[in-house]
Amino acid sequence: MKITKTSQSRIKDVDFNNLVFGTQFSDHMLVAEYSDGAWSEPEIKPYGPFSFTPAMHTLHYGQAIFEGQKAYYMENGEIGIFRPEANAKRLNHSARRMFMPEFPEDLFMEGIKALVDIDREWVPKAPNHSLYLRPFMFGSSEFVAARPSEKYIFCIITSPVGPYYAGDVKVKIEETYTRSAAGGVGSTKCAGNYGGAFYATDQARKEGYTQVIWTDHKNHELVEESGTMNVAFIIDDTFITPPLSDRILGGITRDSILTLLRDRGFVKVEERPIKVEEVVAAAKEGRLQEAFGMGTAAVISPISTIGFRGTDFSISTPEDGYAMRIKKELTELRSGLAEDPYGWMVKF
Ligand SMILES: *Cc1c(COP(=O)(O)O)cnc(C)c1O
Repeated sequence: MKITKTSQSRIKDVDFNNLVFGTQFSDHMLVAEYSDGAWSEPEIKPYGPFSFTPAMHTLHYGQAIFEGQKAYYMENGEIGIFRPEANAKRLNHSARRMFMPEFPEDLFMEGIKALVDIDREWVPKAPNHSLYLRPFMFGSSEFVAARPSEKYIFCIITSPVGPYYAGDVKVKIEETYTRSAAGGVGSTKCAGNYGGAFYATDQARKEGYTQVIWTDHKNHELVEESGTMNVAFIIDDTFITPPLSDRILGGITRDSILTLLRDRGFVKVEERPIKVEEVVAAAKEGRLQEAFGMGTAAVISPISTIGFRGTDFSISTPEDGYAMRIKKELTELRSGLAEDPYGWMVKF
């Protein structure tokens, strides 16, 4: 791997006590280019702009995918990346569906470790802080014709982030717009899934909500995801989350939580379709104990209100509830305070 170090670190300009999510980037980035059917050797070089042609393929046809993951400063002074192989695999799942070349998993692993290692000083040390890692890939050919790009760029940038305060999360059950449909690209982290969601989210904001709960494309009967997070409910002391499908993104946080819960057994777990009417009935009858989103940025984001057809239902967000207990277990595993029986942390 070719490595060109920056001659001037920007780290002194960063206020690590006031990090705004995803707005400051570490000194280096990793770049690899695909052309003539092969990836170039990845290169680590100073973070900086790309130059591109107005006919760059991705601007017109949207072959663009990304990942989101985190590196943590651990108790013993090591750096640990949480489940990077899972992100490498999911990137390639997205790549296949978007008809883009896969990026070799071994190069992904080697590259991400080398990049984080070079910018080790950028991994924040304070509790609940981390270095957010953003691998992404896009079509970079220069032509405007509706066929797949022939050239691609794979890049990883990194950004120090603090704890994620979502505030009071009020979600609206969305019955007009859809995030994904059967046979579509909902299970991929393609850029367009986000582009297509902003309008619906803004409409919900105008009604006083922070996010939408996406429902199925057909009848809006099934609960699918909460904004850009997987969703779970605690009803009658049972943790319920919708099963994965081609409409739902396979979150690594979701998978980690399911694994922990099944092993620890402190709550019953059900992975099954959940109807909107079931959630609403449970809320009315006081059996909806908790609801939350699961994803890398916030880990767990408790939902305090669910709005359905103009009626708001309050949900408790107890400090000693299931959501907070799950979050604590994951946080301890990631910091090295608790055992890591699954080998999830890749440490160096
Ligand atoms: C990224 C993402 C998630 C969460 O995935 P994690 O791997 O847990 O971060 C959930 N839903 C959607 C739509 C996403 O894009």
